[in-house]
Amino acid sequence: MEIGNKRRDSEDGQKQEVVKRVKSQEPNYAYLETVIREKLDFDSEKICCVTLSSLNVYCCLVCGHYYQGRHEKSPAFIHSINENHHVFLNLTNLKFYILPQNIQILHEDKVQLLNGIKYALYPTYSVKDLQSFPKQCFDLSNRAYLNGFIGFTNTTTYDYAHSALLLISHMKPLRDYFLLNNFDNQGEFIKRLSICIKKIWSPKLFKHYLSVDDFVTYLKVKEGLNLRLVDPRVFLLWLFNRICSSSKQLKSISNKSCKGKVKIVEIGKDPKDDGPATTKINVKPFWVLTLTLPEFSPFKDGNTVDNLPQINISQLLSKFSDIRDPSANNIFKLTHLPQFLIFHFNRFDHSSEHPVKSRNQTIVEFSGELKVLYANYRLKANVIHTVIKLPSTDGNTSDGDERSHWVTQLYDGKNDKWIEIDGINTTEREAELLFLGETFIQVWEKQEP
Ligand SMILES: [Zn+2]
Repeated sequence: MEIGNKRRDSEDGQKQEVVKRVKSQEPNYAYLETVIREKLDFDSEKICCVTLSSLNVYCCLVCGHYYQGRHEKSPAFIHSINENHHVFLNLTNLKFYILPQNIQILHEDKVQLLNGIKYALYPTYSVKDLQSFPKQCFDLSNRAYLNGFIGFTNTTTYDYAHSALLLISHMKPLRDYFLLNNFDNQGEFIKRLSICIKKIWSPKLFKHYLSVDDFVTYLKVKEGLNLRLVDPRVFLLWLFNRICSSSKQLKSISNKSCKGKVKIVEIGKDPKDDGPATTKINVKPFWVLTLTLPEFSPFKDGNTVDNLPQINISQLLSKFSDIRDPSANNIFKLTHLPQFLIFHFNRFDHSSEHPVKSRNQTIVEFSGELKVLYANYRLKANVIHTVIKLPSTDGNTSDGDERSHWVTQLYDGKNDKWIEIDGINTTEREAELLFLGETFIQVWEKQEP
C-alpha cells in the first residue's frame, strides 16, 4: 500500500511539474496547425464527454471531442495536458482558447481557419448571400453539393424529420427570416430550429450532409414531441404550430405564406323527410390540405404492382370547387389560396394492423404546373413514400412486415432541375418521372400572374 501511495505521490508531483512548465510558456499560435477540421462535428449533442454536463463546454479542435471548463482540473484542461491538444472553442460564446495556458485567441476574425470553424458551428448570412442561392459548393473532401439540397445521416430513425425540415427550409419567406436573423435571445426551440435551417443552406459545410438527431432528440425530451405515428405530415404540422407559438414574427410570416382557408357547407337532412335541407357553414384554416385518394386495397384481386390505379391531381382537387358531390353531404370550397399550398395524400389507415402493407398505393398523376381555381401553381417539393421490407421472425423478407421510408424531391428553380434527397445521397431526377413514386406531401408555390 505504502509503495503504491508513494508512486502515486511522485506521479502527481511530475504532473504538477508539467502543468507548471506548460502554463509558464507563451501561447504558441503554431498550435493552430494541429487543428483537424475533418474531425469536427457540430451537429452532435453539446455535452462534456467526461461529466456529461452541457454547461461551459469546449470543443477540442484537434480531436473533435467536447470537454467542460478551462480551469485547472477541468476535463478540458486535463485533456490538453494528457493528449497534448491545445486549441479549444467555447461552444456557447464562440471564443477560441489555447489550453492549458488558458489564453484567449484574439483577433480570430483575421484567421481564416478559425472563421471557417465558427461558420460551421453557426452560419450567418447577408441579404446579398441569399440572392446567389442555391449555388454549387464544395465540402472539405472537395465533394460538390448544392446548398439547401443536402442529405442527412440516420434515415432509419429520423427520415420523416429530414423531409419536413427540408420543406420548411424551401419556403422562401420562412427561410429568409430564419437565415437573416439571430435567435440567440429567443427560446431554445426556435434557436435550435434556426441553426438547423442555417446549416441546411450553408455554402461552407465540412461534410456535404447533416445530422438532426440531436435536434429531434431535444424535441422528444424537452418539447414533448410524440414519436409514435410520426410521419412527415404530422411532423410538419407540429413544426408549424410550435413555430407559431414561439415567435410572433414567424407566426405572421407562416400565416401569410402557408395558411389556406376552406369553406365547408354541411348539408343535413331535415328530420321530416320531405322538408328542406339544413345547412351549416364553417370556414376552416389549414396548413396542409388532405386530398382523399379513391379507395384501394392491395389485397383485392387484380391489384398488383403492375396494375395500380391512377388518378389525376385535378380530379382529387375537384372536391374543393364548390360543387356538391352527390355521394357526399358536404360542399367544400377553397376560399383563400396561400402562396404555398401544401397537399397531403392520405395513404394510410392507422387503425389497420399493418398500415404500411395495406396502404393505398394509387398513383397520383401531376406535372410541374397546376391550376387551382383562379391561380397558377408550380410544384416545389414532393415527398414520396417508399418501403423497406423487414424480415419476418424466420428471417424471410418476402412475407415480413414493411416500414415506411421517406424520400424528398426538391425543385431547384435557378437551374430548372429536380433533386432527390434520400439519406445522405442527392440525385438529379427527371421531372416527367416524379409522379411514379407514391407521393405523400406536395408543396406548390403560387405564380405571379
Ligand atoms: Zn483533443
